[in-house]
Amino acid sequence: MTVEVVKNYINGKWVESKAKETRDVFNPATGEVIAKTPMSTKEETLEAINAAKAAFERWRSTPALTRVRYLNRIRDAFEENFEDLVKTLTMEQGKAIDESRGEYRRTIENLECATSIPSLQMGYNSEDISAGIDEMVIKQPLGVFFCVAPFNFPGMVPTWFWPFAIGVGNTYIVKPSEQVPLSQVKQFEIIHEIGLPRGVLNMVHGGSEAVNTLIESPDTVGMSFVGSSRVGKLLFKKTGEYGKRAQVQGGAKNFLTVMPDADLEKTIPALITSFYGCAGQRCLAGGVLLAVGDIYEPLKEMIVEAAKKYTTGNGLEEGVQMGPLASNAGMDKVLKFIQSGIDEGAELLLDGRGIEVPGYPDGYFIGPTIFDKVTRDMTIAKEEIFGPVIPIMQVKDLDEAIEIIHANPYGNASSVFTSSGKTARDYQYRVKTGNIGINVGVAAPVATFPFSGMKDSFLGDLHDQGRDAVEFFTENKVVITRWF
Ligand code: NAD
Repeated sequence: MTVEVVKNYINGKWVESKAKETRDVFNPATGEVIAKTPMSTKEETLEAINAAKAAFERWRSTPALTRVRYLNRIRDAFEENFEDLVKTLTMEQGKAIDESRGEYRRTIENLECATSIPSLQMGYNSEDISAGIDEMVIKQPLGVFFCVAPFNFPGMVPTWFWPFAIGVGNTYIVKPSEQVPLSQVKQFEIIHEIGLPRGVLNMVHGGSEAVNTLIESPDTVGMSFVGSSRVGKLLFKKTGEYGKRAQVQGGAKNFLTVMPDADLEKTIPALITSFYGCAGQRCLAGGVLLAVGDIYEPLKEMIVEAAKKYTTGNGLEEGVQMGPLASNAGMDKVLKFIQSGIDEGAELLLDGRGIEVPGYPDGYFIGPTIFDKVTRDMTIAKEEIFGPVIPIMQVKDLDEAIEIIHANPYGNASSVFTSSGKTARDYQYRVKTGNIGINVGVAAPVATFPFSGMKDSFLGDLHDQGRDAVEFFTENKVVITRWF
C-alpha cells in the first residue's frame, strides 16, 4: 500500500506540500501507517494567509443569507457522506464507530446553528440619543481567523469555529492535528465540491512552524486553539504579544460527585460513559469519581461490575464500546499514570493493561481500569490521564467534594448525581467549572450554547459555538449619525 502525504487546501485547490519533514499517521487499532502529514513551511502557510486575505473583501460583502446557503449545502453534503466521514474518523482516531457517529452529529449541529447567523449577526440601534442624533451598532467581520485543533475530536472541533467565522463574513484557515489529518481532508474534499468561493476556507497541515506563522502574520486577526493547557498558555501569550484575538480551550480534570441519595441504577451507565467514552480521551471525560458517604461501597461494587462488561476492540467493528488509545505515545502516557497509581499506594481494582484484542496484536489498547483508595495528593487524582481509568475517592460530604474540585487548577466540567433539587442547586451555584452536569456524566453543550470552561481549562473571554462565537468573530462598530 502506498502511503500518501496529505495535501494542503489553499485558494480552492489541493496543493502538495514541499515540506521535508512529515509525520506518520497511524490506524491505532492495527498500528499501520495510513498516511503522512507534512510539516508545512512558513512559505506555504503564508500562501494560505494570502489566499484568505484576498478572498475577504468580496466574501464580507456577500449577503449573509447567501453565505449561510453555502453552510446549508455543506451540511447536506456531510449528511450524504455521513458513513464515509464516520469511518475515516474511526480509522485515524480509533474511537468506536458509534462515538464517531455522535461526533459527526455534533459537527452537523454546528453547521445548522451557524445558519442562524443572518439573525444572530444583526446589530441594534437607538433613536435620539440626543435630539436628532441616532446611534447604532453594526457587527462586522474582521478578516482572517484560524484554528489549531487537537487529536481527540478531529471531525468536530474545527466546526466549533469556522462555520461561525465564515458565516459572519470572515475567511478562515484550519490547522488540523498532525496526528489525525484525514478527517479534515475528507471534509475539505466534500467542501471542495460545494463551490465555496476560493480562499474563503483553507487548510494547512503541520506543527509549530505553521502555527507560529499564523500568529505572527500581520494579516491574521484571531486564533481559536483547542489542546493541552501547556501549549494553549504559550500560544495565548504569543497571540497577546501580536495583538490578536484568542480563545484557548485547554486540558481538564473533571470530578464526578455521587451523593448518597443518587439513583445508582441510572447513575452507573452515565459514569461509565463519562470515564470510558472515547477511551477517556475527552476534555469532558470523568477524571475522578468522588463517592460521598455511604454510597461508596455499593457504588464501587456496581461500577466494577459494569466496567468488566464494557467491550474493547477495533472501533470499526459495530458493537465495540471502546476503541484503542489514539496513539502509541498516548497509550504509554496512560500506562505511566497507571503505574504511578500503583507506586503511590492506590488499590488497583480492575487492571486494563495488557488486554488482548483478538486479531489486533499491534493496537494501542488499554481496557477499563479502576483504582480505589485514591487520595488527593496522588498524581492520578490531580492530572489529566486521558485514558480509560477511574480513580475512586471517598469523601464525607458535598463540602469536601467541592473543596477537592476547587483545589484542582482545571475548571472544564464537573457533575453531581443526586435526587435532591437543593443539593443540585447548591452545586451549580458554588462549583467553579464552566460546564456542569446534574445527573449527566458528560456536560457537552450543544451548538446553540457556548462550550464553556474556567481556570486553566479556558483562556480568553468569548467561548466557541452559538452567540459567543458570533461575538468572537465580529467587531461591534458604533455609528453615531446626525443629518443637517
Ligand atoms: P496539544 O496541545 O499537544 O496539540 C494541540 C494542537 O497544538 C495541535 O494542532 C498541535 O499541532 C499544536 N501544537 C502543539 N505544540 C505546539 C507548539 N509548541 N507550538 C504551536 N502549536 C503547537 O493537544 P492534543 O494532545 O492534540 O490534545 C489533547 C488535549 O486537548 C487534552 O488536554 C484535552 O483536554 C484538550 N482538549 C480540550 C478541549 C476543550 O474544549 N477544552 C477539547 C478537546 C481537547
